[in-house]
Amino acid sequence: MVDQKIPKATAKRLPLYYRHLNSMQQQGKQRISSKELSDAVKVDSATIRKDFSYFGELGRKGYGYDIEHLIYVFRKVLDQDEIAHVALVGVGNLGTALLNYNFIKNNNTKIEIAFDTNDDKIGTTIGGVPIYSVNDLEKELSRTNINVAILTVPMHAAEEVTERLVETGIEGILNFTPARLSVPDDVRVRHIDLSVELQSLIYFLKNEQ
Ligand code: NAD
Repeated sequence: MVDQKIPKATAKRLPLYYRHLNSMQQQGKQRISSKELSDAVKVDSATIRKDFSYFGELGRKGYGYDIEHLIYVFRKVLDQDEIAHVALVGVGNLGTALLNYNFIKNNNTKIEIAFDTNDDKIGTTIGGVPIYSVNDLEKELSRTNINVAILTVPMHAAEEVTERLVETGIEGILNFTPARLSVPDDVRVRHIDLSVELQSLIYFLKNEQ
C-alpha cells in the first residue's frame, strides 16, 4: 500500500494522529479537516497535509479527511494489528507506575510479565502483571513469545540485564535507564531520556516567544 519510505519525523507523529482519530471516531465524528486535527494534536496543518501525502490521496478539498479511512490506513502502517508482547525488568518507582498504567487504552500492547531482584516483590502482581525473580528471566521468557522489553532497572544493572535479554531473542528494548546499551544490529533500542525531552520542550518554549 505504501511503497515509499516514510520520513522518520512523519512516522513518529503517526501514533499521535492515530490516537486522536480513534478518539474522534468514538465521539461519532466521521470527517475532519487538517485544521481541526492540527488544533487537537498541536502540529501545524501544513505538516499534517504533508505527512498524509505520503499515504496517497487521503482527503478532498472542502470535504476534509474521512476518519474511518485514515484509521484504516494508519493502522496498517503502524502494524497495530500485530500485538507486541512486552516484559518489564525492574519493578521500582518507574516500573511500578508503568505496570499500573499498562497501556490499557491500547489493546495491542500490554506488559505481560515483570522481573525484579527484590524478594518482597517476587511472587506478587502489580496491575495484574506477575513479577518473577530476574534469576528466572531466561526460563520464563522462553515460555512466552515476548519480543519487547522495558528496562527500568538501576543504571548499574542495565548492561547485564540487556545482554541476557538479547540472549533470549528480544527484538526491541525501551530503555528508561541513563545507560547507553550496546546491542547487536538486529535489536532496536529506544532510549527515553526525560531530561532531554524536557530540554527540548524548554528550547521550543523559548523559541516560540
Ligand atoms: P528504583 O530504584 O525505584 O527501581 C529499580 C528496581 O529495579 C528496583 O525494584 C530493584 O529491585 C530492581 N532491580 C535492581 N537490579 C535489578 C536487576 N539486576 N534485575 C531486575 N531488577 C533489578 O528506580 P526507578 O526510580 O524506578 O528508576 C529506574 C530506572 O529508570 C533508573 O535507571 C533511573 O535512572 C531511570 N529513570 C527513572 C525516572 C523516575 O522518574 N523515577 C525517570 C527517568 C529515568
